[in-house]
Amino acid sequence: MQFSGRKEPEDWPESELEKKRKDRRESRMHELGVVFHIMDSLEKVAVENEVTGISRVVLELGEVSTVIESYLHNCWQWAAKKRELFSEAELVVETIPARTYCEGCGQTYATVEHGKICPCCHSPDTWLLQGNEFNIKEIEVY
Ligand SMILES: [Zn+2]
Repeated sequence: MQFSGRKEPEDWPESELEKKRKDRRESRMHELGVVFHIMDSLEKVAVENEVTGISRVVLELGEVSTVIESYLHNCWQWAAKKRELFSEAELVVETIPARTYCEGCGQTYATVEHGKICPCCHSPDTWLLQGNEFNIKEIEVY
């Protein structure tokens, strides 16, 4: 097979990202740990506020966070059955798109699409503005 020899530098960070995500897929322990962590902290809040049931939990999840959303849902369903507070709780995940800021030209751009190299000026001097978040945004109780 013949290649033209041209390798876009933009390809590299993207494949790095893919690799990171694939590595993650090999273990669900990470997502389960995350779910336990959320439930533990919400249980504490519930006790303090005399809440007996949570009907909905909204999470903000960055696009390039290491947490895989589908695993998160699976783990949530499994763990929710074992905890009374969450037996009726729906998990809602809101994705925050990843944006990168370029020091070279001051532009922001889509991280997943372009990686670490700025598509405007090709500077590698960039940093992630948003997209790595993992926050509990809101909960609904009954
Ligand atoms: Zn730039």
